[in-house]
Amino acid sequence: MNLKSLIKKIENKYPLNLAYDWDNVGLLVGDFDMDVKKVLVVLEANEKVINEAIENKVDLIITHHPFIFRKINKINTSDLKGKLIHKLIKNDVALYSMHTNFDIAFDGLNDYFMELIGFEDCKILDITNNEVLYKLAVYVPTTHVEKVKKALAKSGAGHIGNYSHCSFSSEGIGNFKPLEGANPFIGSAGEIESVEEIKIETIVPQKVLGGVISSMINAHPYEEVAYDLYKLENKGSSVGLGRVSKLKQSISLQELCNNIKEKLHIDHIRLVGSVDTKISKVAVVTGSGADMVKKAQRVGAEVIITGDVKYHDAQDALDIGMSIVDCGHFDTEDIFKDVMKRFLDEIEEINVVKSEVYLNPFTTI
Ligand SMILES: [Zn+2]
Repeated sequence: MNLKSLIKKIENKYPLNLAYDWDNVGLLVGDFDMDVKKVLVVLEANEKVINEAIENKVDLIITHHPFIFRKINKINTSDLKGKLIHKLIKNDVALYSMHTNFDIAFDGLNDYFMELIGFEDCKILDITNNEVLYKLAVYVPTTHVEKVKKALAKSGAGHIGNYSHCSFSSEGIGNFKPLEGANPFIGSAGEIESVEEIKIETIVPQKVLGGVISSMINAHPYEEVAYDLYKLENKGSSVGLGRVSKLKQSISLQELCNNIKEKLHIDHIRLVGSVDTKISKVAVVTGSGADMVKKAQRVGAEVIITGDVKYHDAQDALDIGMSIVDCGHFDTEDIFKDVMKRFLDEIEEINVVKSEVYLNPFTTI
């Protein structure tokens, strides 16, 4: 499969524009026109992972942590990063990273964590983006109404909640005079024409706006398509970091920790709080989420599950009556391999393998 086509499928589900400004996501090394047969998914890429990819004839490595993050002035073999980039290019291995866009997106890392632990009916902890919506109104001769409606729906217009193909039609008369040089579908140059037309109004999210307008123009018979486009105050769907879930019945922190240890296959968890504390609402931020403790409390959670908790984060949490389950950065994110493999396995043309390199820099003894 062509790399550009594969990336299009990935970014359709996990758009790059969801990532924070400071992040570095997308195709970081590689040729968009190359052919991809085998993909390796892994939390991050180091020399062992790159060697693993080369030995296994992998064409593309997909990481969660950005392989290139800090500014690079030179790519040569005198430093490790330069050496690895050089090695990737020399061996025709591309590298793609999906980081905070994958944390934020639906069915990304945080949603997968919730699914794995068995938390249902999840809400967003910290909204980062509200989808911008547009109203599109187009004037169509009666003969082409169904064709234009179909094109609008197929390209992503007209979705409201669990409904698709939403539009409103009203009848009217379209008036126009083709000028010299025009090639009108109806009427002739220099004569005012009046045509029975239908005004179709529909709603379009910003992310599909370009595609919707070009599909509409393609389906419309007129040389010059008359349409109005205006930004709405209505809020579209929201996306954001972290998830919150209200439990069906309260459980103790001990029970919560036992469940997490079992599902993540880990032996140790650091708990800030008392094992007997009963909780009924949990927040999750995979990776580093200690700075979200207060936010989690504001939305009613009694505990936040995350990694990278420092001593003073823990003290501050206890002071305000919050508990923290610190599973470690690695153990909340190594599941990236599982969720990405599940997503990519739907694409028939590629073979997806999970890295077997163990990447956790910490050992608990
Ligand atoms: Zn991370």
